[in-house]
Amino acid sequence: MNQIKIFSPASVSNLCCGFDILGFSIDGIGDELTITKSTNKGINIKEIKGYNVPLENNKNTASVAAQALLNHLEINEGFDIEINKKIKPGSGIGSSAASAVGAVYGINKLLGNPLKHEELIKFAMKGEFISSKTAPADNVASALHGGTILVNNRENYNVIKLPVPKNLYAIIHHPLIEIKTSDSRGILPKSVDLKIASDQLSALGGFIHSLHTKDFELMKISLKDYLVEQYRSDYVPAFNEIKSVADLNNTICCSISGSGPSIFTLVKSLSEAKRLKLLFDDIYNGKKLEFNSYITGLNSKGAHEI
Ligand code: ADP
Repeated sequence: MNQIKIFSPASVSNLCCGFDILGFSIDGIGDELTITKSTNKGINIKEIKGYNVPLENNKNTASVAAQALLNHLEINEGFDIEINKKIKPGSGIGSSAASAVGAVYGINKLLGNPLKHEELIKFAMKGEFISSKTAPADNVASALHGGTILVNNRENYNVIKLPVPKNLYAIIHHPLIEIKTSDSRGILPKSVDLKIASDQLSALGGFIHSLHTKDFELMKISLKDYLVEQYRSDYVPAFNEIKSVADLNNTICCSISGSGPSIFTLVKSLSEAKRLKLLFDDIYNGKKLEFNSYITGLNSKGAHEI
Protein backbone atom coordinates (compact mmCIF):
# COMPACT_ATOMS: atom_id res chain seq x y z
CA MET A 1 0.00 0.00 0.00
CA ASN A 2 1.49 3.36 -1.07
CA GLN A 3 -1.29 5.73 -0.16
CA ILE A 4 -3.97 6.04 2.50
CA LYS A 5 -6.81 8.51 3.14
CA ILE A 6 -7.82 9.15 6.74
CA PHE A 7 -10.79 10.89 8.37
CA SER A 8 -9.88 12.31 11.78
CA PRO A 9 -12.78 13.74 13.79
CA ALA A 10 -13.33 17.02 15.58
CA SER A 11 -13.95 16.66 19.32
CA VAL A 12 -15.41 18.38 22.35
CA SER A 13 -12.99 18.76 25.26
CA ASN A 14 -13.35 20.05 28.86
CA LEU A 15 -16.59 18.11 29.21
CA CYS A 16 -18.02 20.18 32.13
CA CYS A 17 -16.70 18.39 35.20
CA GLY A 18 -13.52 17.14 33.49
CA PHE A 19 -11.33 20.15 32.69
CA ASP A 20 -8.49 18.93 30.44
CA ILE A 21 -9.36 15.25 30.97
CA LEU A 22 -12.82 14.47 29.49
CA GLY A 23 -13.82 14.68 25.84
CA PHE A 24 -15.80 13.08 23.03
CA SER A 25 -15.44 12.82 19.27
CA ILE A 26 -17.96 14.48 16.94
CA ASP A 27 -19.72 12.42 14.29
CA GLY A 28 -18.99 13.36 10.67
CA ILE A 29 -16.98 16.58 11.22
CA GLY A 30 -13.24 16.21 10.74
CA ASP A 31 -10.06 16.70 8.73
CA GLU A 32 -9.19 14.45 5.81
CA LEU A 33 -5.55 13.56 5.26
CA THR A 34 -4.12 11.81 2.21
CA ILE A 35 -0.71 10.32 2.99
CA THR A 36 1.52 8.98 0.20
CA LYS A 37 4.89 7.22 0.39
CA SER A 38 7.58 9.35 -1.26
CA THR A 39 11.18 8.97 -2.38
CA ASN A 40 12.03 12.25 -0.59
CA LYS A 41 12.92 11.38 3.00
CA GLY A 42 11.00 12.73 5.99
CA ILE A 43 7.57 14.37 6.15
CA ASN A 44 6.40 16.88 3.58
CA ILE A 45 3.11 18.79 3.71
CA LYS A 46 2.33 18.95 -0.01
CA GLU A 47 -0.98 20.76 -0.03
CA ILE A 48 -3.56 22.23 2.32
CA LYS A 49 -7.13 22.74 1.18
CA GLY A 50 -9.92 24.30 3.23
CA TYR A 51 -9.02 26.35 6.31
CA ASN A 52 -5.61 27.96 6.33
CA VAL A 53 -2.91 26.44 8.56
CA PRO A 54 0.90 26.57 8.27
CA LEU A 55 2.43 24.66 5.35
CA GLU A 56 5.90 24.64 6.96
CA ASN A 57 6.76 21.15 8.22
CA ASN A 58 7.95 22.41 11.61
CA LYS A 59 4.78 24.47 12.23
CA ASN A 60 1.98 22.10 11.28
CA THR A 61 0.68 19.74 13.96
CA ALA A 62 0.32 16.92 11.38
CA SER A 63 3.92 16.98 10.16
CA VAL A 64 5.43 17.51 13.61
CA ALA A 65 3.46 14.54 14.99
CA ALA A 66 4.33 12.37 11.97
CA GLN A 67 8.05 13.23 12.18
CA ALA A 68 8.08 12.36 15.91
CA LEU A 69 6.65 8.94 15.00
CA LEU A 70 9.28 8.36 12.27
CA ASN A 71 12.10 9.40 14.63
CA HIS A 72 10.88 6.99 17.30
CA LEU A 73 10.63 4.10 14.82
CA GLU A 74 14.01 5.12 13.29
CA ILE A 75 12.42 4.98 9.85
CA ASN A 76 14.30 6.64 7.06
CA GLU A 77 11.45 6.76 4.55
CA GLY A 78 9.46 9.72 3.21
CA PHE A 79 5.76 10.60 3.28
CA ASP A 80 3.80 13.39 1.58
CA ILE A 81 0.69 14.68 3.35
CA GLU A 82 -2.24 16.54 1.81
CA ILE A 83 -4.67 18.00 4.34
CA ASN A 84 -8.26 18.85 3.58
CA LYS A 85 -8.70 21.11 6.60
CA LYS A 86 -12.39 21.05 7.43
CA ILE A 87 -12.21 22.07 11.12
CA LYS A 88 -11.57 25.77 11.63
CA PRO A 89 -8.44 26.38 13.77
CA GLY A 90 -9.07 28.05 17.12
CA SER A 91 -12.58 26.60 17.15
CA GLY A 92 -12.47 24.78 20.48
CA ILE A 93 -13.39 21.52 18.73
CA GLY A 94 -9.91 20.07 18.37
CA SER A 95 -8.78 21.30 14.98
CA SER A 96 -5.04 20.99 15.67
CA ALA A 97 -5.53 17.62 17.40
CA ALA A 98 -7.47 16.10 14.47
CA SER A 99 -4.62 16.78 12.01
CA ALA A 100 -1.98 15.43 14.41
CA VAL A 101 -3.98 12.26 15.08
CA GLY A 102 -4.79 11.69 11.38
CA ALA A 103 -1.11 11.91 10.44
CA VAL A 104 0.21 9.42 13.02
CA TYR A 105 -2.72 7.05 12.56
CA GLY A 106 -2.28 7.04 8.76
CA ILE A 107 1.49 6.63 8.73
CA ASN A 108 1.39 3.84 11.32
CA LYS A 109 -1.16 2.06 9.12
CA LEU A 110 0.90 2.57 5.93
CA LEU A 111 3.89 1.06 7.76
CA GLY A 112 1.85 -2.05 8.68
CA ASN A 113 0.92 -0.97 12.26
CA PRO A 114 4.31 -1.28 14.04
CA LEU A 115 2.75 0.56 17.02
CA LYS A 116 -0.45 -0.32 18.86
CA HIS A 117 -3.32 2.14 18.54
CA GLU A 118 -2.96 3.34 22.15
CA GLU A 119 0.78 3.99 21.66
CA LEU A 120 0.09 6.65 19.00
CA ILE A 121 -1.20 9.28 21.43
CA LYS A 122 2.20 10.50 22.63
CA PHE A 123 3.34 11.20 19.05
CA ALA A 124 0.11 13.03 18.21
CA MET A 125 0.70 15.09 21.37
CA LYS A 126 4.14 16.19 20.08
CA GLY A 127 2.22 17.77 17.20
CA GLU A 128 -0.51 19.18 19.46
CA PHE A 129 2.17 21.01 21.49
CA ILE A 130 2.91 23.13 18.38
CA SER A 131 -0.55 24.68 18.74
CA SER A 132 -0.18 25.30 22.49
CA LYS A 133 2.79 24.44 24.74
CA THR A 134 0.44 23.43 27.54
CA ALA A 135 -2.11 21.54 25.42
CA PRO A 136 -3.89 18.79 27.37
CA ALA A 137 -4.57 15.40 25.75
CA ASP A 138 -8.40 15.31 25.79
CA ASN A 139 -8.88 16.37 22.14
CA VAL A 140 -6.13 14.08 20.86
CA ALA A 141 -7.43 11.10 22.87
CA SER A 142 -11.01 11.72 21.64
CA ALA A 143 -9.95 11.97 17.97
CA LEU A 144 -7.77 8.85 18.21
CA HIS A 145 -10.09 6.56 20.16
CA GLY A 146 -13.51 7.99 19.32
CA GLY A 147 -16.42 7.94 21.77
CA THR A 148 -16.17 9.56 25.19
CA ILE A 149 -12.82 9.34 26.94
CA LEU A 150 -11.09 10.11 30.22
CA VAL A 151 -7.36 10.77 29.85
CA ASN A 152 -4.52 11.66 32.15
CA ASN A 153 -2.02 14.24 30.99
CA ARG A 154 1.15 12.63 32.35
CA GLU A 155 3.85 10.96 30.29
CA ASN A 156 1.99 7.76 29.38
CA TYR A 157 -1.40 9.37 28.61
CA ASN A 158 -3.60 6.53 29.89
CA VAL A 159 -6.95 6.68 28.12
CA ILE A 160 -10.15 5.14 29.48
CA LYS A 161 -13.04 4.77 27.03
CA LEU A 162 -16.24 5.43 28.94
CA PRO A 163 -19.58 3.61 28.51
CA VAL A 164 -22.12 6.11 27.15
CA PRO A 165 -25.91 5.61 27.04
CA LYS A 166 -27.00 5.37 23.38
CA ASN A 167 -29.66 8.06 23.71
CA LEU A 168 -27.24 10.73 24.98
CA TYR A 169 -26.76 13.41 22.29
CA ALA A 170 -24.81 16.65 22.02
CA ILE A 171 -25.72 19.81 20.13
CA ILE A 172 -22.66 21.80 19.17
CA HIS A 173 -22.61 25.42 18.07
CA HIS A 174 -19.51 26.93 16.59
CA PRO A 175 -19.46 30.68 15.85
CA LEU A 176 -16.93 31.33 13.08
CA ILE A 177 -14.48 33.36 15.12
CA GLU A 178 -11.09 32.17 16.39
CA ILE A 179 -10.07 31.91 20.04
CA LYS A 180 -6.52 30.63 20.49
CA THR A 181 -6.11 28.02 23.23
CA SER A 182 -2.89 29.70 24.33
CA ASP A 183 -4.72 33.06 24.88
CA SER A 184 -7.70 31.48 26.57
CA ARG A 185 -5.57 29.62 29.10
CA GLY A 186 -3.93 32.89 30.12
CA ILE A 187 -7.13 34.17 31.79
CA LEU A 188 -7.45 31.17 34.12
CA PRO A 189 -6.30 31.30 37.76
CA LYS A 190 -3.04 29.49 38.52
CA SER A 191 -4.37 27.67 41.60
CA VAL A 192 -7.72 26.62 43.10
CA ASP A 193 -9.18 26.55 46.58
CA LEU A 194 -9.35 23.08 48.23
CA LYS A 195 -13.14 23.36 48.67
CA ILE A 196 -13.56 23.95 44.93
CA ALA A 197 -11.20 21.06 44.11
CA SER A 198 -13.27 18.81 46.36
CA ASP A 199 -16.57 19.86 44.69
CA GLN A 200 -15.05 19.18 41.29
CA LEU A 201 -13.74 15.75 42.30
CA SER A 202 -17.13 14.76 43.64
CA ALA A 203 -18.81 15.95 40.41
CA LEU A 204 -16.39 13.92 38.27
CA GLY A 205 -16.98 10.78 40.34
CA GLY A 206 -20.77 11.29 40.09
CA PHE A 207 -20.59 11.69 36.31
CA ILE A 208 -18.55 8.52 35.78
CA HIS A 209 -21.00 6.59 38.01
CA SER A 210 -23.98 8.04 36.10
CA LEU A 211 -22.56 6.70 32.82
CA HIS A 212 -22.29 3.20 34.26
CA THR A 213 -25.78 3.30 35.77
CA LYS A 214 -27.41 5.33 32.90
CA ASP A 215 -28.74 7.68 35.59
CA PHE A 216 -29.52 10.96 33.76
CA GLU A 217 -30.56 12.78 36.95
CA LEU A 218 -27.19 12.06 38.58
CA MET A 219 -25.49 13.01 35.30
CA LYS A 220 -27.27 16.38 35.32
CA ILE A 221 -26.25 17.28 38.87
CA SER A 222 -22.71 16.03 38.29
CA LEU A 223 -21.92 17.80 35.02
CA LYS A 224 -20.83 21.05 36.68
CA ASP A 225 -17.71 23.07 35.99
CA TYR A 226 -16.35 24.80 39.11
CA LEU A 227 -12.95 25.54 37.56
CA VAL A 228 -12.99 27.40 34.23
CA GLU A 229 -16.39 28.20 32.71
CA GLN A 230 -16.94 31.27 34.92
CA TYR A 231 -13.70 32.85 33.64
CA ARG A 232 -14.32 32.15 29.96
CA SER A 233 -18.08 32.64 29.59
CA ASP A 234 -18.00 36.37 28.79
CA TYR A 235 -15.52 35.81 25.93
CA VAL A 236 -17.72 33.25 24.17
CA PRO A 237 -20.36 34.85 21.92
CA ALA A 238 -23.98 34.00 22.87
CA PHE A 239 -22.91 31.63 25.65
CA ASN A 240 -24.93 33.23 28.44
CA GLU A 241 -28.13 33.30 26.30
CA ILE A 242 -27.67 29.72 25.09
CA LYS A 243 -27.03 28.49 28.63
CA SER A 244 -30.18 30.22 29.97
CA VAL A 245 -32.32 28.63 27.23
CA ALA A 246 -30.64 25.25 27.87
CA ASP A 247 -31.40 25.52 31.62
CA LEU A 248 -35.04 26.49 30.94
CA ASN A 249 -35.34 23.40 28.74
CA ASN A 250 -34.01 21.10 31.42
CA THR A 251 -30.96 19.92 29.44
CA ILE A 252 -28.32 17.73 31.09
CA CYS A 253 -25.53 20.25 30.69
CA CYS A 254 -24.43 23.22 28.61
CA SER A 255 -20.84 24.43 28.60
CA ILE A 256 -17.89 25.68 26.55
CA SER A 257 -15.99 23.19 24.39
CA GLY A 258 -12.23 23.46 24.83
CA SER A 259 -11.33 27.09 25.22
CA GLY A 260 -14.28 28.26 23.10
CA PRO A 261 -15.88 29.75 21.06
CA SER A 262 -17.78 26.45 20.52
CA ILE A 263 -20.60 25.56 22.92
CA PHE A 264 -22.07 22.11 23.54
CA THR A 265 -25.32 21.01 25.16
CA LEU A 266 -26.15 17.47 26.25
CA VAL A 267 -29.70 16.08 25.99
CA LYS A 268 -31.25 12.65 26.35
CA SER A 269 -32.86 12.09 22.95
CA LEU A 270 -32.27 12.84 19.28
CA SER A 271 -35.65 14.58 18.94
CA GLU A 272 -34.76 16.91 21.84
CA ALA A 273 -31.39 17.62 20.20
CA LYS A 274 -33.10 18.56 16.92
CA ARG A 275 -35.63 20.82 18.69
CA LEU A 276 -33.00 22.68 20.71
CA LYS A 277 -30.58 23.04 17.80
CA LEU A 278 -33.22 25.13 16.00
CA LEU A 279 -33.79 27.29 19.12
CA PHE A 280 -30.05 27.90 19.49
CA ASP A 281 -29.63 28.55 15.73
CA ASP A 282 -32.21 31.36 16.13
CA ILE A 283 -30.12 32.96 18.90
CA TYR A 284 -27.04 33.14 16.65
CA ASN A 285 -29.10 34.31 13.66
CA GLY A 286 -30.63 37.05 15.85
CA LYS A 287 -27.13 38.26 16.68
CA LYS A 288 -26.09 38.07 12.99
CA LEU A 289 -23.24 35.74 13.96
CA GLU A 290 -21.96 33.30 11.36
CA PHE A 291 -21.92 29.82 12.82
CA ASN A 292 -22.01 26.08 12.19
CA SER A 293 -24.13 23.73 14.27
CA TYR A 294 -24.09 19.96 14.57
CA ILE A 295 -25.74 17.10 16.41
CA THR A 296 -23.68 14.09 17.46
CA GLY A 297 -24.01 10.98 19.57
CA LEU A 298 -21.27 10.42 22.14
CA ASN A 299 -20.19 7.05 20.74
CA SER A 300 -18.90 8.07 17.30
CA LYS A 301 -15.82 6.63 15.58
CA GLY A 302 -12.25 7.83 16.08
CA ALA A 303 -9.73 8.33 13.24
CA HIS A 304 -10.26 5.78 10.46
CA GLU A 305 -9.43 4.99 6.86
CA ILE A 306 -11.85 6.24 4.20
P1 ADP B 1 -7.99 24.29 18.19
O1 ADP B 1 -8.60 24.08 19.55
O2 ADP B 1 -9.03 24.59 17.15
O3 ADP B 1 -7.06 23.19 17.80
P2 ADP B 1 -5.72 25.88 18.94
O4 ADP B 1 -5.64 27.32 19.31
O5 ADP B 1 -5.42 24.87 20.00
O6 ADP B 1 -7.15 25.62 18.29
O7 ADP B 1 -4.74 25.58 17.72
C1 ADP B 1 -4.74 26.37 16.59
C2 ADP B 1 -3.29 26.82 16.31
O8 ADP B 1 -2.52 25.70 15.83
C3 ADP B 1 -3.27 27.86 15.22
O9 ADP B 1 -2.27 28.81 15.55
C4 ADP B 1 -2.86 27.08 13.98
O10 ADP B 1 -2.16 27.85 13.02
C5 ADP B 1 -1.93 26.03 14.57
N1 ADP B 1 -1.87 24.82 13.73
C6 ADP B 1 -0.76 24.25 13.21
N2 ADP B 1 -1.06 23.18 12.47
C7 ADP B 1 -2.40 23.04 12.49
C8 ADP B 1 -3.30 22.11 11.89
N3 ADP B 1 -2.90 21.12 11.10
N4 ADP B 1 -4.61 22.25 12.16
C9 ADP B 1 -5.06 23.26 12.96
N5 ADP B 1 -4.25 24.19 13.55
C10 ADP B 1 -2.91 24.08 13.31
